[in-house]
Amino acid sequence: MDQYEPSRKLLAFIEKSPSVFHAVANLKEELELAGFQELEENRQWVLQHGKGYFVTRNDSSLIAFRVPERELQYFHLTAAHSDSPCFKLKPSCEILVDHQYVKLNTEGYGGMLMGPWLDRPLSVAGRAVVRRGNQLKKVLVHIDRDLLLIPNVAIHMNRDANNGKKWNAQTDLLPLYGGADSMETFSIEIANAAGARVEDLLDYDLFLYNRMPGRIWGAQNEFISSRALDDLQCSWALMQGFLQAEGGEIRRNALAACCIFDNEETGSLSAQGADSTFLTDVLERIRETMDITAGEWRKAIAEGFMISADNAHAVHPNHPELADPTNRPYLNQGIVIKYHANQKYTTDSITASMFRTICQEADVPVQTYTNRSDQAGGSTLGNISNAHLSIRSVDIGLPQLAMHSPYETAGADDTEYLIRAIRKFYERHVVIR
Ligand code: ZN
Repeated sequence: MDQYEPSRKLLAFIEKSPSVFHAVANLKEELELAGFQELEENRQWVLQHGKGYFVTRNDSSLIAFRVPERELQYFHLTAAHSDSPCFKLKPSCEILVDHQYVKLNTEGYGGMLMGPWLDRPLSVAGRAVVRRGNQLKKVLVHIDRDLLLIPNVAIHMNRDANNGKKWNAQTDLLPLYGGADSMETFSIEIANAAGARVEDLLDYDLFLYNRMPGRIWGAQNEFISSRALDDLQCSWALMQGFLQAEGGEIRRNALAACCIFDNEETGSLSAQGADSTFLTDVLERIRETMDITAGEWRKAIAEGFMISADNAHAVHPNHPELADPTNRPYLNQGIVIKYHANQKYTTDSITASMFRTICQEADVPVQTYTNRSDQAGGSTLGNISNAHLSIRSVDIGLPQLAMHSPYETAGADDTEYLIRAIRKFYERHVVIR
């Protein structure tokens, strides 16, 4: 294996995951290959010590876990998110312009950088609900060709285009789909992709995605660029670390889980986001099924540890002044531990020390991130999830540029660092007294 192999595999994973539903379906496939058994929330569960399972909710969030071989002593949890900012197709989305063009009506999902969505081939992916006989089926939909494009306005028609542009999502960002004769064809296209007749297509959750494939590039091939690095880079790497861990004390005594949540980009408040009962519902179900007393359970939470992984801002080569003066993460310099005095990040000296110890033992470099004191910065999963399951946590991420662009950039070395650290986290319990 060369050092970029994990980043190449990551890009292949992202390529076949054009929507959250595809990302979760692909993670499910990896778990099944590794011998994990799927559980369904609307069925009875039977669990065995030492075995691995996974549960999905809305087909867009996933929790994989291993039940300890012996007595439960602590939780080892990781969390990342499956979604990324994009545009969602509205129902009845065709709009005829001047009897000549058909464009599609969309709305923003999450807080994206809008400019880079223009002038590049796009397509749609997601899921649809179709009628098959007298049954309703949910199916993945992916139109795997260059289907749409959002054309810019020429500089001659907007001389101020380079002087700061205020984008209007209703007027500036609607993608062009076809000529006048394509007014009726879009729903046929979606129905075809869903393997159904157009009259059997009931509804859809479809999102635009950037068709430009991921690339490894740079003087020494040290950079990767792709859509959705935030946060599929962390989601995929967490899952690899979780699956590769050899076990030891964690396999014996920990309830180890890897959680991938949807809807982080809209604030996590949905039935399947980090601000839902998904994680606590799954854990409570495990407790009941394994017949663990409430006291033992609380002890294991108090002794537990969670890593919340969401990409971090690297120092920007054209705007190094935007980074904090002393906490300055760079691409390929390792995992970023994020700190925030006002608790947007869960990290404190205890949990950072626990995570640093794990990284040191895994021979993985770490760096630190804080916002500039005059900037608000973003938020992530850790503190939201903590409101439901209060457990010691650290917020980390991989350094990246152009966060929330449809084509983001990160370090080719860093994917492997995260996999290696997470593998160690699922093998080793660090204690601070
Ligand atoms: Zn993120």
